[in-house]
Amino acid sequence: MNHDVIVLGAGLAGLSCARDLARGGADVLVVEARGRVGGRVEQTALPDGRLVQLGGEVVGPFHTAYARLVAELGLTLVPSFPQLPGEQTWVLADQTGVGDGYPWMSDADRAAYEKAEAAFAALAATVDPDDPWSHPDAAALDRLSVGDWLRSVGATPNVVRARDLFMLALAAESVERTSLLSDLRKEAVAGAPGFYSYDVWECQRVAEGSATVALRMAEELGPHRLRLGAPVRSVTIDAAGCTVGLATGETLTAAAVVSAVPVGPLRDIQINGVSAARLDSLDRQRHALAAKVVFAYPDSFWERQGQNGDIFFETAVLGGTWVQHCGIMSTLVPPERLAAFLTTSPRVLQAELTEEMALALGPQARSPQAVYFRRWAVDPWTQGYITGWRPGDVMAVGPLHGSQEPPFYVCGSDQWVCGYMEGAVRTGRAAAAAALADG
Ligand SMILES: Cc1cc2nc3c(=O)[nH]c(=O)nc-3n(C[C@H](O)[C@H](O)[C@H](O)COP(=O)(O)OP(=O)(O)OC[C@H]3O[C@@H](n4cnc5c(N)ncnc54)[C@H](O)[C@@H]3O)c2cc1C
Repeated sequence: MNHDVIVLGAGLAGLSCARDLARGGADVLVVEARGRVGGRVEQTALPDGRLVQLGGEVVGPFHTAYARLVAELGLTLVPSFPQLPGEQTWVLADQTGVGDGYPWMSDADRAAYEKAEAAFAALAATVDPDDPWSHPDAAALDRLSVGDWLRSVGATPNVVRARDLFMLALAAESVERTSLLSDLRKEAVAGAPGFYSYDVWECQRVAEGSATVALRMAEELGPHRLRLGAPVRSVTIDAAGCTVGLATGETLTAAAVVSAVPVGPLRDIQINGVSAARLDSLDRQRHALAAKVVFAYPDSFWERQGQNGDIFFETAVLGGTWVQHCGIMSTLVPPERLAAFLTTSPRVLQAELTEEMALALGPQARSPQAVYFRRWAVDPWTQGYITGWRPGDVMAVGPLHGSQEPPFYVCGSDQWVCGYMEGAVRTGRAAAAAALADG
C-alpha cells in the first residue's frame, strides 16, 4: 500500500481533512485536478495590492469549525459587509431606490412578511438539521417549494417577490424551486429564528483573504503530500485496499480514500466497490449554478451617496452585489440568468454589466479599474456553485447524506446541510476524525 489515505480534491474540505490526518500521524496524499489548491476559494491581487476574492468569501458567527481553523492557522476574522455604512439599493422592474427593509412594500406586505417569518421560524425549530428525515412530515415538507408554502401562510405577492429577490442576490435557486424542508434544515443548523439573514451567515471575513486559509493549509502539508494537475478518473475498493486511477493512466494505492470533490465532478469518476445505495444518494445531489463577477473601483464611492453596496436587481443579469472591502464589489449571476451570461462575449458582457452597476450606483460605476469573471457553473472541476435542493431532493438523497462507508469516506461542503465554507471544514475534519478512529 503506497499511502494510508488518499484524499481526492484540494479544496477547503480536502485540505482540512488531509491536515488533520497528517497531524494524526497518517501518511496522506492529496490529489487535485487543478494546478492550484483552494477549489471554490480563489483570490488574485490588484496591482495596488488589494486582494480580490473570486469564490467563497464570508462566514457567520455560528460557522465555528471554520473560525477554529482560521485561528489555528494564525489568521483573523473581521467584520464584513453587513457592518458597512449606508443603505441597500433596489433596482426593480418598476422603480429604483435606496433604503433598508424592503422600502417598496406596503404596511400590509410587511405585516404578512413578519407573520410568514414567524411561522417559518416555528417550523424550523421542529427540524433536526442532522436528521431532517425523522421529521413526522418530512416527505410533505420536502415536496413543498418555499414559494408554495409562503403563499399557503398568507404571504402577499410582494412578500414572495422579496424572498425571491433575496435568492437571486444569493444566486441560490428561486423560492419556487427550493424544497421547504431543505430551507428549514438550513436555518435550523444556524439556530437563528427566521429567514436567511446576512447577519447570521455573512457578517465576517478573513482579513488576510479567504483563499489564504487554503494556501496556509497547503503550506503546512508541504508539496510532498500534494499532487496538483492530477484529475482522478476512477476509484476501486476491494479486499486488497483502494486504488485511485488518474487521468494520466497512473494508479495510486491506499488503505482508505476520502472524496472531497463536488458532487458534479464526482459523477465523472468511475467508482467501484461502494454500495449502490450510496452511489445513488451521491448521484441525487445537485448544485445551483452561478457565476461571479467582481468590479474593482479606486474606492467605495457609493458610501458618499448613502449606499452600502448591497444591490438587489430584479430584471438585470446580475442578481445582487456586496462589498468585499475598499472599492471591491462582488456580484453573482444567479442560475436563471446564466444563459444570458454564458452566451454573451466577455467584451459585450463587461459593457452590459457595467451599465447595470451604473443603474444602481450612478455614472462613477462606469469606470472600474478591473472586472473579473469567474464562470464557476461551467468549470469542469466545480460544475456548480453551492448545493441546491429542489422539492423532493432531501428525501431522494436520504439519510446516507454526509455519512461514511469505510474505507470510502466523503467530505466537502455538499455533504453538509447546504454547502458553504463551514460545511467544507466541518465535514473535512469529521472525515479525518472518522478515518483516524477506524485506523
Ligand atoms: C462564487 C462563489 C461564492 C461563494 N461564496 C461563499 C461565501 O461567501 N461563503 C461561504 O461560506 N461559501 C461560499 N461559497 C461556497 C464555498 O466556497 C464552497 O462551498 C467551499 O469552498 C467548497 O469547498 P469544498 O472543499 O467542499 O469543495 P471545492 O472547493 O469545490 O474543492 C473540491 C476540489 O476538488 C477538485 N476536483 C474536482 N474534481 C476532481 C477530480 N476528478 N480529481 C481531482 N480533484 C478534483 C477541485 O478542483 C477542487 O479543488 C461560494 C462559492 C462560490 C463558487
